[in-house]
Amino acid sequence: MKCTTCDSKMAKGYLLGDRYAIKWQPENTKLLAGVFAKGGITLKNMSSFLRRPKTEAYVCNTCKVLTVDLKTQRQI
Ligand SMILES: [Zn+2]
Repeated sequence: MKCTTCDSKMAKGYLLGDRYAIKWQPENTKLLAGVFAKGGITLKNMSSFLRRPKTEAYVCNTCKVLTVDLKTQRQI
């Protein structure tokens, strides 16, 4: 994947979660009990019983930008 800002090749890697799936929420999301949120985008959860949740992501080391292609996520 190429960086949309500087057109450099981005480094492929993964966002790793702990026990639960990784989610993106808009900044004005209200949390229930300071923890739970409805809606947003749940990033593809590649976890199994023994593996951690993870999703593919790319980093531009020049711009210091992290990118997740939402077309690869199951909710899109
Ligand atoms: Zn860049």
